[in-house]
Amino acid sequence: RKLGYAVVGLGGYGLGIIIPQFKNCQHSRLVALVSGDPAKAKRVAAEHGVPEKNIYNYQNYDSIRDNPDIDIVYVCLPVSMHAEYTIRAAKAGKHVLCEKPMAVSSPECEQMIAACRQAGKKLMIGYRCHFEATNLEAIRRARAGEIGKLRYFRSEHGFTANNPNAWRLKKAMSGGGSLMDIGIYALNAARYMTGEEPVAVYAHETTDRNDPRFREVEDMIEFELEFPSGVIGSCMSMYSANQNHILLMGDKGRIELEPGTSYRGNRLWVGNGRENEITPPPGPGATQWAGQLDHLSQCVLQNKDPIVPGEEGLRDLRIIEAIYQSARDKRRIVLKA
Ligand code: NAD
Repeated sequence: RKLGYAVVGLGGYGLGIIIPQFKNCQHSRLVALVSGDPAKAKRVAAEHGVPEKNIYNYQNYDSIRDNPDIDIVYVCLPVSMHAEYTIRAAKAGKHVLCEKPMAVSSPECEQMIAACRQAGKKLMIGYRCHFEATNLEAIRRARAGEIGKLRYFRSEHGFTANNPNAWRLKKAMSGGGSLMDIGIYALNAARYMTGEEPVAVYAHETTDRNDPRFREVEDMIEFELEFPSGVIGSCMSMYSANQNHILLMGDKGRIELEPGTSYRGNRLWVGNGRENEITPPPGPGATQWAGQLDHLSQCVLQNKDPIVPGEEGLRDLRIIEAIYQSARDKRRIVLKA
């Protein structure tokens, strides 16, 4: 059986990336849309075979409760709206896939987890790289000891933010700047590549506050993660240049990905430089998104927990909050176990 998804938010990601992916899925189908723009919703519904009765807006959203076509709600809204639309979905008796970063604060993440738990519904966060073939192969080789004992992790992620009016640059809607939006890929990769949880962070932010884009949120932030094994993670995110890179250094070699977390075209090298490029075996789905969508469907069908549940989003948010605190206070912050 294919489970029915309602996509909430028909923006760059929901409409541009997620909706076209249902054709690649085996256990998931698009059945409903939630949008503030009725004309757009009608057009998208017609294009993707969604019946008009399954078009909702932000006001009548709670009535998805009465629609048995909808099993899962996929929240593709600005970050400040994630908590509200996740909690309303859980209260309407639906499972939730919510985009990253999970919410603007860790208390909000806790409320989302509690609401889904109380409703007996699954909650998964849109960490697509956990379903992406190149990343999975890098993790497998690191765990298999191919580069020996891991000593150092590095990742830089950035893109150029152009529009000063975009919600990503408004703190109330985004919760923060490049760290929240794209630095989270470096942070999450540091955790899944090492297989460890950081015990302390140290961060340094530099932002031109006269730049109209950066009145409210940071441009560049660099953060160091200390792992229990002694591995150091050195990460950076920025909104003023394009960068997408992951490097693991072990005592017997290196694993390098560039780009590492892109939609397409990720590349992987294992060895001592870039001589040995690896073609990874296929991931769990036809694409990383199909793997992600079908994973949650299968978790629902088989009553299993997703590999990237709400707790994973919460963990990143708590570390992000410590990174911001470190940058503000200019001191090392020890993370609570
Ligand atoms: P976007 O601005 O393109 O789309 C946001 C959508 O929300 C739009 O359809 C907009 O109309 C709607 N919306 C509803 N109320 C709004 C309001 N008050 N203000 C602004 N927009 C409002 O953003 P996006 O790039 O699609 O990002 C949506 C979510 O997806 C974010 O959480 C983002 O982090 C995430 N995202 C994830 C990836 C990924 O690779 N996993 C990539 C891009 C975006």
